[in-house]
Amino acid sequence: MIDTHCHLTFPDFSGRVGEVLAEAARAGVHSCITVATTTADALRTTALAGEHERLFASAGVHPLYADAPCDWDELRQAGEHPKCLAWGELGLDRHYDTPPESRQRAILDEQLAHIRAWGTLGLGKPIIVHCRKAFHELVPVLARSGLPGNQFVFHCFTGDSSDARLALDLGAMISFTGVLTFPNAREVRAAAALVPRDRLMIETDAPFLSPQPVRGAHPNEPKHVVHVAAALASARGEDPIELNEQLDRNAVAFFGDALRDSRMRHP
Ligand SMILES: [Zn+2]
Repeated sequence: MIDTHCHLTFPDFSGRVGEVLAEAARAGVHSCITVATTTADALRTTALAGEHERLFASAGVHPLYADAPCDWDELRQAGEHPKCLAWGELGLDRHYDTPPESRQRAILDEQLAHIRAWGTLGLGKPIIVHCRKAFHELVPVLARSGLPGNQFVFHCFTGDSSDARLALDLGAMISFTGVLTFPNAREVRAAAALVPRDRLMIETDAPFLSPQPVRGAHPNEPKHVVHVAAALASARGEDPIELNEQLDRNAVAFFGDALRDSRMRHP
């Protein structure tokens, strides 16, 4: 199994990333992607991935960090790191009103423009999208970005079936977190059931969103992605072992062979 989205540079994991990854591996989670929230954090995620064989990184500016200092040269530098598999997370968050809409949108537009302008470097990596209560606004922005729709994954999907259709019509992947396990998340489970098998991924978004049966535990950790996988199989009425194999194949196809190679070195 692969935790395709966690934040191991957050202070919750300070000094114990090696232990967290070892525990994940014991639970069957052979690789993780630690996702950046600012350009300075992108330098940290890539440096951390450089220290741990099973850990990979992304480089991007999260919409809720759109007010943080932003240095596009740092982002490019992080993107050139050999363990950087993706851009993001980037997008829009309409659940919170700070940073203001206009600031979130400006950072999103600039970021997409840079990724496009960086040619092979930009186009050569998939893009992790943060979209909260913003599907109708964000999907058209991505569609007009000049980047292929199948380069995007909507991470931590918390929308309903019509939101899922917007993302799928764009050509994107959809990734689910522990939210799937929450009793009140019926619409998210309904959406999970209609995503084609080859467009699905799973993640923890650790340190946030601990799934049932460890809900409320903080920090959430990559090893808990096993509970997300079980909830996804149950929501779809699928065999959990077969679905896990499919999820691994999907993550490798989307993020690249480096993820598979790390499993082969540590079966
Ligand atoms: Zn995240």
